[in-house]
Amino acid sequence: MFQVNQHYLELDESYLFSTIARKVEQFSTSHPGADIIRLGIGDVTLPLSPAVISALHRSVDEMGEKEHFRGYGPEQGYAFLREAIAETDFKNRGIDISPSEIFVSDGSKSDTGNIGDILGERNVVAITDPVYPVYLDTTLMRIGKTDKIRLLRCSEENGFLPEVPAVRADVVYLCYPNNPTGTVMSREQLKRWVDWALENESLILFDAAYEAFIRDESIPHSIYEIEGAKRCAIEFRSFSKSAGFTGLRCSYTVVPHELKVVTADGSKVSLHYLWNRRQSTKFNGTPYIIQRAAEAVYTAQGQQEMQQMIDSYMQNAALIRQGLSESGYTFFGGEHSPYIWLKCPDGLDSWQFFDRLLERCHIVGTPGIGFGAAGEGYFRLTAFNSAERTAEAIGRIAQLSSTR
Ligand code: PLP
Repeated sequence: MFQVNQHYLELDESYLFSTIARKVEQFSTSHPGADIIRLGIGDVTLPLSPAVISALHRSVDEMGEKEHFRGYGPEQGYAFLREAIAETDFKNRGIDISPSEIFVSDGSKSDTGNIGDILGERNVVAITDPVYPVYLDTTLMRIGKTDKIRLLRCSEENGFLPEVPAVRADVVYLCYPNNPTGTVMSREQLKRWVDWALENESLILFDAAYEAFIRDESIPHSIYEIEGAKRCAIEFRSFSKSAGFTGLRCSYTVVPHELKVVTADGSKVSLHYLWNRRQSTKFNGTPYIIQRAAEAVYTAQGQQEMQQMIDSYMQNAALIRQGLSESGYTFFGGEHSPYIWLKCPDGLDSWQFFDRLLERCHIVGTPGIGFGAAGEGYFRLTAFNSAERTAEAIGRIAQLSSTR
């Protein structure tokens, strides 16, 4: 009889978002008319910008014209988009990344999940706790529950920033600005990781999905701002949160030509070659119209409109920070990230605080335990709602605190 991948059966059931949905539904049924505010969502709420919309219209029209119609495109992405990315996201920041090192894709979820295809099964993989669950679950799907997975505990004591491992780790996933904790890594901290990786011949998988939310130029947007990173890191970027593409689907992954690994027979192989081989075999490219839409993000108008969107989310984040601070909460993030990670008050665990916030304030957030055991006792709020609803939510939290 055929067999399935046994590792899938070892995965923990993902109860987080289904439990939240069930609890909210039960509450709405028993409290009809309750005005529920959702600050748990990790999805954008602002519509696509005018620059993106007109690029979509134009490219849709092209697809109906005999002379402009496009069929299969290059698996790596069209040159017009890869060139715009290299110019704006890297060259203009003084980083030397060529268009040929950029692979356009349909989302960072796919790429951070699929990158394991080109990595060996014997690697020791280090993953932070708490974490964006995709890194852990896709690693478990590939190599199963083994002692080859090392969790790097992030806590209040280390400011939710992992220490470089004292024990062996061949591959490490880092995500900054971080989901769920909203924390960022300084240049010095990131340099420590790059130096560690070079010294140990380890690979850093750096998820920069939230780099556009960084407000302080001293914080690195890209790991390639650090000397030597092109020899030890792959970087993932997404248009999802920066330009509102969660529904359109476009992202890119940078695999530098310099990034090489020694194979079993002692020869050197480039990860760029392997990822290109993987993508051109298993992926047929991001739709042309979506790549034209992403290209529009790099026009002057597109950049300005993107900045306005981010500014508006970050104003919400500032409102949340101010409100929590006035109500005496301990929290992290929200300065360079749309996520605010708060410590549950009164010794409540994550789910107890979820229930309290829902029942007493009619606010939905995300329990920290859903991102790993180290998230217990913490709670994630997001800045992706409107300014009015965010202000209303903060008012309710302040009232809750005053009656505690
Ligand atoms: N990486 C992180 C850290 C995320 O939080 C998310 C989405 O929430 C993604 C990647 C997925 O991005 P995409 O929409 O490009 O698949």
